[in-house]
Amino acid sequence: MQRSSTAPVAKDLVLVGGGHAHVGVIRRLAMKPVPGLRVTLVARDIHTPYSGMLPGLIAGFYDYDDCHIDLRRLCRFAGVRLYHAEVEGLDLENRLVLAAGRPPLRYDLLSINTGSRPGAQGVEGAAQYALPVKPIDRFLERWEALQERVLASSGPFEILVAGGGAGGVELLLAVQHRLQTLLRERGDDPGRLGFTLCTADREILADHAPGVRRRFQRVLRERGVRVWTGQPVAAVGPDRVRLADGRTLEAHATLWATSASTPDWPARAGLAVDEAGFIRVDDHLRSLSHPEVFAAGDVASLPDARPKSGVFAVRQGPVLHHNLVAALAGRRLRRYRPQRRFLGLITTGDRYAVASRGGWSAEGRWLWTLKDRIDRRFMRMFNELPAMPEQEGPAPAEGLADEETRRVLASLPMRCGGCGAKVGATVLERVLARLPCAGRPEILAGAPGDPDDAVALRLPPERLLVQSVDHFRAFLDDAYTFGAIAANHALGDLYAMGAEPHSALAVATVPYGRETVVEETLYELLAGAAEVLGAAGAVLAGGHSGEGAELAFGLAVNGLADPQRLLRKGGLKPGQRLLLTKPLGTGTLMAADMRHQAKGRWVEAAIAHMLQSSAEASAILRAHGATACTDVTGFGLLGHLLEMLRASDAGARLDLDALPVLEGALETLAAGIQSSLQPENLRLRRALAEPQAALAHPHYPLLFDPQTAGGLLAGVPPEQADACLDALHRAGYRAAAIGEVVAAQGPERVWTGA
Ligand SMILES: Cc1cc2nc3c(=O)[nH]c(=O)nc-3n(C[C@H](O)[C@H](O)[C@H](O)COP(=O)(O)OP(=O)(O)OC[C@H]3O[C@@H](n4cnc5c(N)ncnc54)[C@H](O)[C@@H]3O)c2cc1C
Repeated sequence: MQRSSTAPVAKDLVLVGGGHAHVGVIRRLAMKPVPGLRVTLVARDIHTPYSGMLPGLIAGFYDYDDCHIDLRRLCRFAGVRLYHAEVEGLDLENRLVLAAGRPPLRYDLLSINTGSRPGAQGVEGAAQYALPVKPIDRFLERWEALQERVLASSGPFEILVAGGGAGGVELLLAVQHRLQTLLRERGDDPGRLGFTLCTADREILADHAPGVRRRFQRVLRERGVRVWTGQPVAAVGPDRVRLADGRTLEAHATLWATSASTPDWPARAGLAVDEAGFIRVDDHLRSLSHPEVFAAGDVASLPDARPKSGVFAVRQGPVLHHNLVAALAGRRLRRYRPQRRFLGLITTGDRYAVASRGGWSAEGRWLWTLKDRIDRRFMRMFNELPAMPEQEGPAPAEGLADEETRRVLASLPMRCGGCGAKVGATVLERVLARLPCAGRPEILAGAPGDPDDAVALRLPPERLLVQSVDHFRAFLDDAYTFGAIAANHALGDLYAMGAEPHSALAVATVPYGRETVVEETLYELLAGAAEVLGAAGAVLAGGHSGEGAELAFGLAVNGLADPQRLLRKGGLKPGQRLLLTKPLGTGTLMAADMRHQAKGRWVEAAIAHMLQSSAEASAILRAHGATACTDVTGFGLLGHLLEMLRASDAGARLDLDALPVLEGALETLAAGIQSSLQPENLRLRRALAEPQAALAHPHYPLLFDPQTAGGLLAGVPPEQADACLDALHRAGYRAAAIGEVVAAQGPERVWTGA
């Protein structure tokens, strides 16, 4: 279960980037939460790679999950909010993090651990043709494509790696091992592959001792790799590169692993940076220009400059954790002293490694085994999380020592109920002023910008007012995304009936906390909802907001419909095909997420489906002759289907094989993880005509899985069904034909056999 969600929030610590130092910070925060401190991680990638195992992943010795830390699970475990977004800037004056596609995020203290990427600026054609090794996820996608290309090719195929540091050398040897193995397995000739390493340095592995260099020079020679030193790549093309001295080399693929560079947003924001744009910090890892900002890992430029390496970032984790908490509590910071000598284990792509420590070096298979053991132990710390005791109620008022924090924490037990629990008028006014407030002429009074006791709507003649209301406890701690999903869920009822969204009233409960914290949470929540409503052509016309123990949100939505075109649950006709527009599984996946037992990418995919609007699906279904429709939500597929069948006095034959399923849902169901509503829904199994046959099917539990912002379920004439499905797929829905409507035959209405 998520921890510390009921503690009042006094301070916001924002971590940008899930790098090696931050994962250590988060784990430590999990072990020793700081009362009153809310921590948010903003991460571009939900699964963050562990650099030490990447060459092994490329060589084919590890799978994706072996060498990626699942930030979502780690954050759930630690009670840290995870915002999936790429940071593009900072407003240092107002202490805001600016991330793509979401509202600015306020912080009291900020820490940046966003790593680096190989620099290719100024190299002609590199952006178009080279494959940079970072960001890793993008590299891995393109690496898959390169393997396909090599396998599909015939004749010579030249691969060139630019960059002669440990990363470049390891990359080349791992790529070579993998590709040669793949060709050999297919009976193809691995000898048709050529490999070249180019470095601008005078020699390879310039940061390492001569003994290490000699060993790798030998390995590269034995493996038939051509090495060009003192030769920066000046231009990259589709099948060749040009070196600085004008020579050209054949290269059907160019991989880029040159020295580190950083995006320019820290510099643009006004942080002190070094000549290459890395954030200048002191030996406490604190920005030289902004004491409320810390930085660690590759993105930080320390007084005692060291090569950019994950080893240093990992070692900075404990110091960074101490200093962030100490800075918030006004205590003394600790110095980070980089290790003078450290054991580097550089792999040769074939389960063999070279050790480098100061002037000493060694090599052998046993070193690969040692490295494998060390790396797997490191990963277990993050991916095998211990069961944590759930926190009982709010945490005691200790930890963050400043006056305001103590006041906020101490005031909690005396918080009022009734109207006394409302969010203060000025907070609300400020939040509403920040929201996009598109009025509608039909709203006569009460809309944002024109407040009144209630909203007065003028309804157009000949149109029906269609209303629905939904309310949730937060199942995500990202208020913006939660607000957007809640709005999308509420609109689903309108789309099911073929109504056009018009306006909405919101009810929000925001956790207790400092005024600025309450304001920001409410703003994020309403901004998420307003964005979805705005995209649907509706306006957030008013509502009510209060403080409470946990985040909760609901919306009453109004839509307008043409009385002749209203789609009801009743109206299914025997012979019609049943179409479902979204995959099932959000109930079990979100339950697993709360128990930190779902993979981050499963939850992200489920969130993307929950955010997908049903507006277009509704239009497509109607255009293809749908005569009845509903949205699949809390009662699960079977519950909502039965409502339709009863209203239509019909039965249905379901094809369980055809049910679309979200990635990971079958795994979480198999692990026995169900939504708390599932047992209630399960009572409906009485309506199944062949319960034993259905029970044996792996998709059976999905019939009862409650959905949030689920898909539309509709009956479509059989002759239109294929075209309708095509149109839904083209519009981006993972829709499926899941069965057909049959004549009613008694109390059992649903058949699942062939
Ligand atoms: C092939 C290869 C092999 C390597 N092998 C080793 C090795 O064996 N040992 C070693 O010590 N080093 C190794 N390195 C170097 C190592 O990868 C880096 O030094 C290390 O990853 C830096 O760690 P970090 O914590 O600074 O950032 P990273 O590990 O790069 O993490 C940064 C995180 O921030 C996120 N992020 C980036 N930008 C943003 C943004 N704008 N907004 C939000 N999130 C963002 C990313 O998604 C990522 O999760 C290797 C490098 C390469 C290329």
